[in-house]
Amino acid sequence: MYGLPIRYVDPVYRPPSEARSLIFQVTLGCSNLRTKRDPDSPTGYRVQGGCAFCVAYQTKPFRARPEAEVLAEVDAAGAAVGGRVERVFLADGDALVLSTERLLRILERLYARFPKLQRVTCYASPQNLLHKTVEELRRLREAGLTMIYVGIESGDDEVLRRIDKGATAAQMVEGCGRAKQAGLAQSLTVILGLAGPDPARSRKHAEATGRVLDAIAPEYASALTLMLEERVPSFAEQVGDPGWRELTPAEALQEIRWLLAVLDADGIEFRSNHASNWLALKGRLQADKARLLRQIDAALGDPRLLRPEFLRAL
Ligand code: SF4
Repeated sequence: MYGLPIRYVDPVYRPPSEARSLIFQVTLGCSNLRTKRDPDSPTGYRVQGGCAFCVAYQTKPFRARPEAEVLAEVDAAGAAVGGRVERVFLADGDALVLSTERLLRILERLYARFPKLQRVTCYASPQNLLHKTVEELRRLREAGLTMIYVGIESGDDEVLRRIDKGATAAQMVEGCGRAKQAGLAQSLTVILGLAGPDPARSRKHAEATGRVLDAIAPEYASALTLMLEERVPSFAEQVGDPGWRELTPAEALQEIRWLLAVLDADGIEFRSNHASNWLALKGRLQADKARLLRQIDAALGDPRLLRPEFLRAL
């Protein structure tokens, strides 16, 4: 990827499943993260709002890249490797924030310069989706935007408010529902551990998240486990819960069990194979639900089935 006539502004993030995609940064940073220059901060910036657990883009204030610059990069990369690229990922954190017309022009140029292109994907926030109509999203789908990745994190409004997600569960369902009506495939991410270890809160977070996934019924859903390491005290302070700590393996397994147990939608490809999880689950709902629950129960009874701590990572 590097070595192509593309000027990347680090850090660049992409979903694990986009490892073989050519990345174009159409925006920089994330529009949900509010940062301010601060010469006294080690990073040079102070975060003023946005998802409390997120460290991505903290040194990169949000902005849209000039369209002419993006299109020139697409032209140059097309001239260099045009016949070899089948997948493109549009970065950074919520490329769908761009206007529909601008995204349509970018998609048109991509498919013109990469004749073998089969899919274009990007991250999207619930807010991005709520700013577009079903008709706009349908035009994007027809122009070749094939799938969006949305971090819904939780379906529990109390958790969403505490982490400053900027959207409620009902807004998640509304926004992702628009994408579904438009025919856009969706890969949704939820985060175990956001509510902390209190069993009642953990269960509420899990079951509410399961119900939101059920209501949206995306093509893919995956669970991550929150790992904050040395940032635990500041996260506890941000979410206003001095008792907050990361989950133990048994608590995380119980939380994902509660989540799966309430999921009734059919056809979701469910995964917890991200490196942050102690147990890698992979199955299609509802066909594999009983097996997934049995796997969790087996791991709850035998810690040897868990991923060793030193292999976990975000
Ligand atoms: S929307 Fe994503 S990238 Fe943006 S602040 Fe939240 S977690 Fe970070």
